[in-house]
Amino acid sequence: MKALKIAIQKSGRLNEKSVELLKNCGLSFENYKSSLITSVANFPLEILFLRDDDIPEYVQDGIADLGIVGENVIKEKEVSVEYLQALGFGKCTLKIAIPKEKPLNYIDDLNGKSIATSYPIILQKFLDQHQIKADIRTISGSVEIGPGLGLSDAICDIVSTGSTLRNNGLEPFADVLSSQAILIGKKDIKEHSVVEELLQRVQSVLRAKETKYVVLNVKKEGLDGILDILPGVKSPTVIPLAEEGWVAVHTVISEQDFWEKINNLKSFGAQGIVVMPIEKIIM
Ligand code: ATP
Ligand code: MG
Repeated sequence: MKALKIAIQKSGRLNEKSVELLKNCGLSFENYKSSLITSVANFPLEILFLRDDDIPEYVQDGIADLGIVGENVIKEKEVSVEYLQALGFGKCTLKIAIPKEKPLNYIDDLNGKSIATSYPIILQKFLDQHQIKADIRTISGSVEIGPGLGLSDAICDIVSTGSTLRNNGLEPFADVLSSQAILIGKKDIKEHSVVEELLQRVQSVLRAKETKYVVLNVKKEGLDGILDILPGVKSPTVIPLAEEGWVAVHTVISEQDFWEKINNLKSFGAQGIVVMPIEKIIM
C-alpha cells in the first residue's frame, strides 16, 4: 500500500508534542532533525518535517495527506482542509494588546487606530465583525515592539502566559481567537482506511490522557455512596479485600472529575486512594 504523508512542524513549539503523539499511537520512526522526511517502520505513513506556516497549504494541495498545525495558522492561511481532531496541545490565544499607559475602554475605541500583527486575515475578520475600521500593519515577527517604536497603537499577537506583553509595557485588551493544535486532512482523506485507523489511535491516546485509573478501599457500608459518585467507563469493578468487610473499587474517571469528587469520596470512607495514568483507552 502506498504510504500516506503527515506533515508536522520541523522545530518549534509544536514539534515535540506532535512527535510524542505519533509515538504514543504506536508509530515507530527515527526523529532525525536533519531530514525532511522519515518513514514509519510499522504503519503505512511517512512523516514530513516542515515550517508550520507551510503545513496548511501542503495539506490543501495534497502534497501531504494529513498535518498537525495550530488553528491560528490554518485560519490565517484561509485554506480548505478538514479538521479531523483537536489535539489539546499548543494552546494559545490571539489577542489584541495595547500599551499600559494608553488604555482604551471599549472595543470601538480601536476605530482609527493602527494595529501591528502577523495575522492580518484573522484580525481583519475580527474587526469586520465588530464594524471597526483600523489600520492593519502586517509585520512578520517581534510584533510586540510595534507600539514602543511608534509603529502602531496596538498589536494583535499570540499570547500564552502574557509575560512578553508585560515586558513590553503592553496589556491584553481583546481576545481574537483561541487556538490549539489540530490534526487536519486533505479533502475526503477521512474515509481512507489508514486515516481511520490513525484517528482511532489518536482518539484513544487523547481519551487516556484526560482520564485516570483510580483504586480505593472502602468498608462495605460505604460502597453504595462511593458507587453513586463514580461513573466509570461501564461501571466500577468491586473486589473483596482479604480483610473482612472491606472492598477495593477500581474505576476510570476524568482527572477533572476526580479533583471535584475526592472530598466526597473521602466522606464516604474511601481510603488508600491510588490514582494511576492510563496509556490508551480503546472503545
Ligand atoms: P516555524 O519555524 O515552524 O515557522 P514558528 O516560529 O512560526 O515556527 P512557533 O513559535 O514554534 O512557530 O509556534 C508554533 C505554534 O505553536 C503557533 O502557531 C501556535 O499555534 C502555537 N503556540 C502555542 N503557544 C504559543 C506561544 N506562546 N507563542 C507562539 N505560539 C504558540
Ligand atoms: Mg511559522
